[in-house]
Amino acid sequence: MGNKSELPNQISNNFIQEIIENQINSNESDQKLVTRFPPEPNGYLHIGHAKSISINFELAKIYEGKCHLRFDDTNPTKESPHFIESIKKDIKWLGWDWGSNLFYASDYFQQLFEYATKLTLDGKAYVDESSQEQIRELRGTLNSPGLESKYRNRPISENISLLNRMKNGDFEEGAMVLRAKIDMKSGNINLRDPVLYRIIKTPHFKTGTQWKIYPTYDFAHGQSDSIEKITHSICTMEFEDHRPLYNWLIENINIHHPQQIEFARLNLSYTVLSKRKLSELVENKHVQGWDDPRMPTISGLRKRGYTAESIKNFCNKIGVAKRQNTVEIQLLEHCVREDLNKNCKRIMGVINPLKVVITNYPENKSEKLEAINNPEQPEMGSRQIEFSREIYIDSDDFMENPPKKYFRLSPGKEVRLRYGYIIKCTNVIRDKISNKIIQIECEYDPQTKGGYAPDGRKIKGTIHWVSSANSFTTQVNLFHNLFTVEKPDEHDSITEVLNPNSIEVFSEAKIENHLLQAKPDEKFQFERLGYFCVDQINPNNNLPIFNRTVTLRDSWNKIQKSNKSSS
Ligand code: ATP
Ligand code: MG
Repeated sequence: MGNKSELPNQISNNFIQEIIENQINSNESDQKLVTRFPPEPNGYLHIGHAKSISINFELAKIYEGKCHLRFDDTNPTKESPHFIESIKKDIKWLGWDWGSNLFYASDYFQQLFEYATKLTLDGKAYVDESSQEQIRELRGTLNSPGLESKYRNRPISENISLLNRMKNGDFEEGAMVLRAKIDMKSGNINLRDPVLYRIIKTPHFKTGTQWKIYPTYDFAHGQSDSIEKITHSICTMEFEDHRPLYNWLIENINIHHPQQIEFARLNLSYTVLSKRKLSELVENKHVQGWDDPRMPTISGLRKRGYTAESIKNFCNKIGVAKRQNTVEIQLLEHCVREDLNKNCKRIMGVINPLKVVITNYPENKSEKLEAINNPEQPEMGSRQIEFSREIYIDSDDFMENPPKKYFRLSPGKEVRLRYGYIIKCTNVIRDKISNKIIQIECEYDPQTKGGYAPDGRKIKGTIHWVSSANSFTTQVNLFHNLFTVEKPDEHDSITEVLNPNSIEVFSEAKIENHLLQAKPDEKFQFERLGYFCVDQINPNNNLPIFNRTVTLRDSWNKIQKSNKSSS
């Protein structure tokens, strides 16, 4: 192993790093560390992949090794160059760089075929003409051994001839497969003569129609790692039971042996992280695409307003272990809040506006008030906001018949306008037909500029507002969990537990003019409402449309406290 460049405190709770440290300390190997991230290009990357990316690239960085990006493109029916591009983009956005180490399993198709030929010539692989169902039936179960196929003991010469004819496209899909000849009675089902090659006639996006047979994941994966001289093949726990098979293949082909280390995959509450289920959501149009801001994909999180930094911090905080668990979505939200809180300007926006007329404020008057951009970061300065007779507040901040302890606006009561004056509600105006409240009237107290009463009277509530002269109308999107239950994976059909109200669109939101020129991806705190980013510029009116990234309420701290007190 190479020298480590930093103390091992870069990744928290990481047992893989401990293994590597021990290897360095005992001088077990003088090879440079080589890891890899091996996505199948059949979907977009999600937050679980970010965990794996972070482990592999971070270790390579700490130990001055390399991390390869290898596309595991062995199934042409599901893969596409579009997914390749999205995966590259997302890894770069997260801040990682594979440099010149970009590989494709399809680059090894010839080599893999030669390995398969060697196993066949050595009597360690055979062509089986049984149907898929027969193979499944004969495989046995956890409690009963498998049975040998009647094709298992063909002569080697026949196997070789059939394998070559499979390769040449002489047979239809499903007519036969190449299987390893290991042990149908093995306690480990993965060792019961696993399939190595199957016939697939779909053209491959890289190799075209050159190949009519494709290696299975189990045959391609370990051998690709070996070809690339990977030192540590880090993968998720499901592959623990495959490890004996990978070892068998590597030993029988007799090639470089990477060390496989398994860790627990990330599960996130209220979220699914299986590509099959995520593509189901996309294909059945339950979301607007892989990058829908409600999706746990990297591109979805980016569109939602997550920063790469916050995703990295999240990966660091969850650590790396073998034990399966579900991480609370609140931790992810906590991480982005923490990051945005430091860096965002605070402004005022009103999502669901209610018009307020200040009846004792002159009609042709307006005045500038000073608003602080981020009270926690004084160097971010302040800006001027305009106060006038007509302002907007959020509908939620007014109640005609409030319960006790409602400290916002209600008839006859006073409230403080952030950076403004204290106002008192004097009248409620309703639509004559619908009877809905359409406007309220207030009086302001001219003695209270800045929000404080010189007579010392206590005003408990402070609300946000914008003036009609100093705001523009645009669309704001709010998002909620895509699923109504904590563990959607436990339900037979995820569509049953989809949240029908996971998106709320407000098309008449009023936002401080200050953000008229905001650019896509720019991020702000809307006071009291949360963190928002510009989703896109509306082509119809050139105004920014905003997505809420996260609310301001940090329930993660609460969860942590209650975990502590119950343990
Ligand atoms: P799925 O099982 O959702 O279809 P996958 O794991 O097969 O996805 P790949 O493209 O093969 O998807 O994943 C590439 C790598 O990402 C794998 O090596 C796997 O270790 C890692 N990975 C995938 N999902 C997670 C997860 N939830 N947590 C951590 N790592 C993950
Ligand atoms: Mg996979």
